Amino acid sequence: MSRSLETAIALDAEFHMHTYARKPVLFTRGQGMELYDDEGRCYLDFVSGIGAVNLGHSHPAVVEAVREQIGRLTHVSNLYYVEHRDELAADLVELFGEPARVFFCNSGTEATEGAVKLARRWGVSRRGTSCHRIVTAERSFHGRTLAALAATGQPSKQEAFEPLPSGFTHVPLNDLTALEASVDERTCAVLLEPVQGEGGVHPCDPAYLKAVRRLCDERDVLLIFDEVQTGLWRCGTAFAWQTFGVRPDVVYLAKSLANGLPAGALIAREEVADAFVPGDHGSTFGGGPVVAAAARACLRALQDERLGDRAVATGEYLRDRLRDFGRDTGAVAEVRGVGMMNALEFLDPVAPVVAEAALGKGLVLNSIGTNILRILPPLLCGRTEVDTLLTALYEVTP
Ligand code: PLP
Repeated sequence: MSRSLETAIALDAEFHMHTYARKPVLFTRGQGMELYDDEGRCYLDFVSGIGAVNLGHSHPAVVEAVREQIGRLTHVSNLYYVEHRDELAADLVELFGEPARVFFCNSGTEATEGAVKLARRWGVSRRGTSCHRIVTAERSFHGRTLAALAATGQPSKQEAFEPLPSGFTHVPLNDLTALEASVDERTCAVLLEPVQGEGGVHPCDPAYLKAVRRLCDERDVLLIFDEVQTGLWRCGTAFAWQTFGVRPDVVYLAKSLANGLPAGALIAREEVADAFVPGDHGSTFGGGPVVAAAARACLRALQDERLGDRAVATGEYLRDRLRDFGRDTGAVAEVRGVGMMNALEFLDPVAPVVAEAALGKGLVLNSIGTNILRILPPLLCGRTEVDTLLTALYEVTP
């Protein structure tokens, strides 16, 4: 272990709150799908900052956009007009594909908070104060602040922090009957991830999503998609809902919006967005010019380089290879995923051991719980990198 890594581990143990169990590696540089540690060792990144660097590390267009903007103006707040923010909002509305408005924040959690507030504001103006309930899915993940945690359908993450804000109901994913029973006149919104990420990469059934859309229309309830992890071409299209063929009223993005800088965006159909009035919501840094410049460059490059098509093609190849691996080893319970958001679920609780051994071989992988390996590489990942991953999996799986 290098002296720098030893120092980092010691400082971390002494001075950080112990909210993360970090892996023993000190990354100092990245390029595309490659990461380099402090001793110059190269790793292939199959996590991409937990799905936050879809374009790959240090993409030249994003680096240049940030450098240019930060050298001129970093921050003046949302009280004034700045460059890039409005153009970015227009770009996002164009991707959304119908008249809509955008609110910028700094993270996925904040985007969830914004979505919850907007839905409640809309519900109250529509049917009065009792219309504030939001139905979400069991096993979902929407963030760590109190309302986002209340929306999250994972009791183990919630219990220590009660009481949480009330008004959230959780139903099993892909169970229309349960959803129908939970949506009533007090409900303002249904909130879903098109593919559950932190919960273990569980895609919604497209027929279920279509039925949810119909239910929301019939009962005058908003359909909100949390696309923090699925969005920005990770599932093949700008928004995963375009792949599933189901349009939401509200959608939000974060993670890869500015390819690794903190950014979030809440996008709502115009008449829904107009429920918010001045003073209802805000953010000091949201949509600041540096992050907005990065996000514009990121959106442009993702499209110019057709990384959505690549995510679809490589994702199919990856799932095929993982299924072969399952047949060869008998170690696999299930292979799941859409585009470049994939999971390998083992029969046995070996995922953390596999991820650790893979790191030793220069592959960065993420385990969820004990049995699931999540594979979320930058979208430029190709067959060669997938083959390298599979070679390592055959070698390290016990
Ligand atoms: N929503 C989803 C679907 C996520 O995957 C995450 C983070 O993993 C969040 C919200 C929270 O985002 P952040 O960590 O940027 O606050």
